[in-house]
Amino acid sequence: MNAEELKNLENSKKTVYERKDDEHIEKAYEYCRGYVSYLDESKTEREAVKASVKLARENGFTEWNFGDKLEKGGRYYLNNRGKNLFLFTVGTESPVKGIRISAAHIDSPRLDLKQMPVYEEGGLGYMKTHYYGGIRKYQWVATPLALHGTVVTMDGSSKEIVIGEDPSDPVFYITDLLPHLGHKDDAKPLGEAIPGEKLNLLSGSRPAADIPAGIKLGILAALNEKYGITEDDFLSAELSAVPSGRARDCGLDRSMICGYGHDDRVCAYPALTALFESMNGPHTLLCILADKEEIGSEGNTGMQCALMNDIIDEIAAAAGVSAAAVRAASKCLSADVSAAYDPNFPEAFEKRNSSLMNCGVVLTKYTGARGKSGTNDASAEFIGWLRAAMAHEDVVWQAGELGKVDYGGGGTVAKFISKQNIETVDLGVPVLSMHAPYEIIAKTDIYEAHRAFAAFNLF
Ligand code: MN
Ligand code: MN
Repeated sequence: MNAEELKNLENSKKTVYERKDDEHIEKAYEYCRGYVSYLDESKTEREAVKASVKLARENGFTEWNFGDKLEKGGRYYLNNRGKNLFLFTVGTESPVKGIRISAAHIDSPRLDLKQMPVYEEGGLGYMKTHYYGGIRKYQWVATPLALHGTVVTMDGSSKEIVIGEDPSDPVFYITDLLPHLGHKDDAKPLGEAIPGEKLNLLSGSRPAADIPAGIKLGILAALNEKYGITEDDFLSAELSAVPSGRARDCGLDRSMICGYGHDDRVCAYPALTALFESMNGPHTLLCILADKEEIGSEGNTGMQCALMNDIIDEIAAAAGVSAAAVRAASKCLSADVSAAYDPNFPEAFEKRNSSLMNCGVVLTKYTGARGKSGTNDASAEFIGWLRAAMAHEDVVWQAGELGKVDYGGGGTVAKFISKQNIETVDLGVPVLSMHAPYEIIAKTDIYEAHRAFAAFNLF
């Protein structure tokens, strides 16, 4: 072998900037403009479903429910309780050849309001929260927060609430101790400095109608005036405090995006756009935007719900084939983020097997913790097939593991889908500061995710 042939034996990880020309990079940056507006509209799973339905309808999808007809070439979506969306197209070939599934999630870590949240103490009005998903609590204090959600009243009507996004809106805030008095707290482990019960949203300070201790009533009166709700209505509400403000470019070269909820809209959006781009191919395609991934994919809007199987059953029945055979031939990309190598915290990563920013979409064979506990561990055969699919479209991709062995770990929806006898592997975008109020992604990586999902759908 000569030197050139020898070099080809080695995996050479390169950035998208090294691998692609300026025109490609320009397309990636242009693609991100669409992503940023989707992200800004989608701070909760309910908002993400709305934004996704809007895009689906623009692309010819119509609402479908059990009992409705399915036709070849049809484009359908099933809106599950406003929090979980299934979009699918019926291909020209039989679904018994397998469905191409991409499954992302649209819930993100945040601070949910408790059932009876409003109180006052020491001349200030607050709302109590219960955090949702894995957060580092110290990151959520001393930063402006907005309130997003839905309140359902007894007459069955629901009110959509968004406070703290418009520049003229008020915001909410969780106070932190001043450094002058923080010496004792400074000595605590990071995870203990801000306990969950201190995550109380500062929400007012002016008593209603000059009533002594009327600050709580002032908060309730303001909500009643604007939304017509009372304290009891919090019992049938889903309200979440999320970081206030819009996503924006990060870095002088504008190569990255700083925003709330990249995990996992940064995979949901490319799964959607890839579906729209590849929906005229031969295969039946299913794109799932799941809820509750951050708390274990539980409940009837999470990936452990039987709904995916029910839809596959209907697709199989419409084609007159066995649903079990459809599942056995189906393939799934579990579309979720991975932790990008962070040069600020090299001790947490094993660099050779970590994803690097700008090196393209990350394929993660296994997630889990310790000895691969809790992972579906995708098969070599499926990954071999996927490598060929991505090579066919010259997608820039890299392999990645979440962090050092024995440092921690995590999971995705992959294990729940693979349990249905479906080949499943994780593919997604590398993220810095995952689960922080503002996370960072690279523009080139999300575009490669879009290209990877499209390559998978069409191969
Ligand atoms: Mn995720
Ligand atoms: Mn997550």
